[in-house]
Amino acid sequence: MTKKILEVRRLKKYFPLKNRLVVKAVDDVTLDLYEGETLGLVGESGSGKSTIAYVLAGMYEATDGDIFYRGDNLAKTGLYRTLKQKGEIQIVFQDPGSSLNPRRTVRKSLILPMTIHDRGLSREGMNRRAEELLEAVGLPGEFADRYPRALGGGERQLISVARALATHPSLMILDEPTSALDVSIQAKVISKLIDLQKELNLTYLFITHDLSLMRNVADRVAILYLGRLCEQAPAADFFENPLHPYTQMLLSSIPVATLEEEKLKPARISSTGEIPSPVNVPPGCAFHLRCRDRLPICGQERPQMREIAPGHSICCHLPIH
Ligand code: SF4
Repeated sequence: MTKKILEVRRLKKYFPLKNRLVVKAVDDVTLDLYEGETLGLVGESGSGKSTIAYVLAGMYEATDGDIFYRGDNLAKTGLYRTLKQKGEIQIVFQDPGSSLNPRRTVRKSLILPMTIHDRGLSREGMNRRAEELLEAVGLPGEFADRYPRALGGGERQLISVARALATHPSLMILDEPTSALDVSIQAKVISKLIDLQKELNLTYLFITHDLSLMRNVADRVAILYLGRLCEQAPAADFFENPLHPYTQMLLSSIPVATLEEEKLKPARISSTGEIPSPVNVPPGCAFHLRCRDRLPICGQERPQMREIAPGHSICCHLPIH
C-alpha cells in the first residue's frame, strides 16, 4: 500500500437544533486515504456521507476530531486553510446544473480558480490551460465559449471535473458525481474519472449510495450508517465476504450482472424498519433496531471498530474472528 494522504481521526460534525436537540451527522469517524487509490464511501440518504465530504473539503468546520492532510491538521485550522491546501483538495458535486454559474461561459468558470491559485499565469496562459483542461476531460475546445445551459448533463459534469482540476489537486472528493445523470452518460463520466486518476495520480474519495457502482470503481469500501462507520475493507474482500449485518443487508439487495456475482451475494435479507432520525440515534449500536442478528448487549453498548483481517474492520458486537 502506498503512503497515506489523508488521516481522519474520530471526526464529529454535530448540528445543534432548538430545544437542545442535536443532529449527530458524523459521529466518531476514523478512516485513511492512500495516495492514488479510490475509497468508496457508501451510505443511504441521511447517513452523513455528504457532511463528511463538506468537512473534508473545508466547507464545514469539524465539531471535533482530527483531519491530517500531508501532516497538517486541517480540523484545527477550521475553515481557514492555506491556498495550497484549498487547491490540493477539490470537490465535485452531484448536480453540475447548480454548481456551475449559468451566467458564466465554460471558459470563465475554468479560469476563475486560476485567478486565485495560479496568479503568475498570463491571460493567454489561462486561456490555453482552460482548453487543455477541456481536452483532459475529453471535451472539444469550442465548448469553452458556451454556457452551461447549452450542454448536456454529462458534459456539464465533465466541466465541473475540469474546473476542479484547474488547481492541480491531489485529492478529489466526488460527491455522488454521476447520480444526477442518465445511466448511458454515467459510464462515460466514470470512465473519464478512472483515466484521469491514472494520468494524474489522483486520490478519490468517491461518495455514493450505489454499492454496485463501487464494485467497478473502488479499491477499498467504507460503509456509513447514521454518521458512523460499520465496515471498511479492500473492495474484493468486501464484496466476497461482507461481515457486518447492515452491509450484508445492503449487498443482498443490489442488482448484479452475472450468475457468478449472484452466487457471491448474501441471501436476500429484507430490510426491517426505517433508518432512524439522526436527531434520535438509538443507544448502543445505531443499527440494533433493524438488525436481525442483534444480541442483548447491542442496545446498551456502542460497538468499537476492530480489525478482523488485514485492512478489513467491522464495528459490531458479533463474535466474528
Ligand atoms: Fe447487529 Fe449488534 Fe452488530 Fe449492531 S452490534 S450490527 S445490532 S449484531
